[in-house]
Amino acid sequence: MAARKKIIAANWKMNHTHREAKSYADLLWTEVGVVNEIEVVLIPPFTAIPALAEALQKNPIARLGAQNMHWEKCGAFTGEISTTMLRALNVNYVVLGHSERRRLFGETDEIINRKITAALSAGLRPIVCVGETLAERDSKRVEEVLKRQIQEGLNGVNSNQFQDLVIAYEPLWAIGTGRTATPEQAQEAHVFIRSVIASISEHPIAAEIRIQYGGSVKPENAEELLRQPDIDGALVGGASLDPRSFAQIIRSAVAVSA
Ligand code: PEP
Repeated sequence: MAARKKIIAANWKMNHTHREAKSYADLLWTEVGVVNEIEVVLIPPFTAIPALAEALQKNPIARLGAQNMHWEKCGAFTGEISTTMLRALNVNYVVLGHSERRRLFGETDEIINRKITAALSAGLRPIVCVGETLAERDSKRVEEVLKRQIQEGLNGVNSNQFQDLVIAYEPLWAIGTGRTATPEQAQEAHVFIRSVIASISEHPIAAEIRIQYGGSVKPENAEELLRQPDIDGALVGGASLDPRSFAQIIRSAVAVSA
C-alpha cells in the first residue's frame, strides 16, 4: 500500500480579494518554498482563482481548489459556477458538503451527491466534508450521521473513483469555535469513516483514501492531530487566512511526514 501523503488545505471562505490572494501566495512561498513531503491546497473565493492560478504558476507552492460548484456543465443557473469553468482555470480540488453549505444554503446529501458525481466526471477531486453537530454527538449519533453522509454522498459513485476523493471530518462544534476535537476523538472518527468506505467499496481502497481533520486547526494543535495514524491532513479555515500561521501548519505536517 502506498503511504498516504498528507494534504493540508486552506479554506479561505469569503475572505481575501484577488490582490490579497497574490500577496498571500508570494508570502507563503517566501515562508515555505518547495514542499515535496506533503500536498498543499489553497481554496480561495471564486474571484481570486485566476490571480492565484497565475501566482502559483510562478511560485508552485500549492494546488488550487474551489469552495463550491454546480453539477451542470452550463445553462440557466444564475450565480453558479461549473466544473468546466473551474477546470479551465487549472483548479484541481473542490470542497463539497461543507457544513456551511449544508446549514446556511440548504444543501442536502442528494445535492452533494450530484456535485460529487459531476466533479469526478470532470476530473476535479472532491474534498467531501462530513461531520456531526454537538447535539448529535451528545446523543451518541456520531456514527449514524457520518455513515449516512458518506453513503448518501457517495451513492452511485464507482469505488474505483474513490482514490480521487478526499474526505474531511469536520465536527460542526469545532468549526470556527476555537474548540478542537481531541486527537483521540478525531482519530476515532477517522477510523470509523475508513470502515464505512471499506463497507461500500469493491476495491481495497479504504486504506489508501485520505481523510483530513477540520475544526479549529491552528499552529498550536496541528502537529498533535497530524500525528494520529488515520489523520491524513487538515482542512483549515480561520488559521489559514494569515499565510504565516498557515505556513506553520504546513511545517508541522512536513515534520510529522519526515
Ligand atoms: C472549515 O470551515 O472548514 C474550518 C475547519 O474552519 P476553522 O478552521 O475556522 O474551524
